[in-house]
Amino acid sequence: GRGDYKYKISRDDVDVGQILGEGFFGEVHEGIYKSEKTRVAIKTCKDCTADVKEKFLSEAELMKNLDHPHIVRLIGVIEVDPVWIVMELYQHGELGKYIIEQQYILTNATLILYCLQICKALAYLEGFNMVHRDIAVRNVLVASPECVKLGDFGLSRYVDEQEYYKASISRLPIKWMAPESINFRRFTTASDVWMFGVCVWEIFSMAQQPFFWLENGQVINQLESGIRLPKPQHCPPTLYSLLSRCWAYEPHARPSFCQLACSLRYTAVYLYTCISY
Ligand code: ATP
Repeated sequence: GRGDYKYKISRDDVDVGQILGEGFFGEVHEGIYKSEKTRVAIKTCKDCTADVKEKFLSEAELMKNLDHPHIVRLIGVIEVDPVWIVMELYQHGELGKYIIEQQYILTNATLILYCLQICKALAYLEGFNMVHRDIAVRNVLVASPECVKLGDFGLSRYVDEQEYYKASISRLPIKWMAPESINFRRFTTASDVWMFGVCVWEIFSMAQQPFFWLENGQVINQLESGIRLPKPQHCPPTLYSLLSRCWAYEPHARPSFCQLACSLRYTAVYLYTCISY
């Protein structure tokens, strides 16, 4: 695609440090990108046959077209073996873990700020018909106490206007998914809106697992009988009523990310006038 050369980097320009975590394809290391003097996260690919390599690199391919303050920034790709994807490092790590560690310090005002930032990132994706399909606190990284970044585009796809992406793989996050995604593997911006609602629920539940009291197989029956995730203790009622709209059974009845960003900002300003959103 256009701008490919912009992301071609040399291995000599990267110093590899310790392991940060385990990704789906292999270890993720921290490191330094010397020419920009920036700290980076380096994704590696363990059993990188041609097939696997293509899947591994597809995430980076998508990220080449993205440029948003609340989306993980791709720095570059090394396409010769061993293949590496180099991204900006967000030193506070996954939002889910961060929320648990900081639960006695985080205020509602900060939590709603995170929600708004994730929502803006998704409104940006909505603008070019990209569906993320895996919106959850485990896929959001914390850059600073006031800034989060949506990441993990491993499941993301472009979809045409009236179309949707029909998923084939079985590693699906059932408890985060909209009914039409569970029933027909149908993924659209509207199903992303449902998932975003679940992600907000996680944020205000201090990273508890949604429907932790159910088995995966029980979730769809509950949703079809009209049952939804309960209001987390610390979630303002106005915000919970917004979540309920994200969880409309009918995809068309759900708000867009653009509308959500607007409502969230309004809610935030109304509740916490002391912070600038
Ligand atoms: P999965 O699909 O199982 O989530 P993955 O291949 O998408 O795995 P990640 O979850 O993105 O891999 O990365 C694995 C771990 O590495 C994460 O849990 C996170 O802690 C860390 N990590 C990844 N990218 C970054 C980054 N840019 N900054 C800081 N930490 C990161």
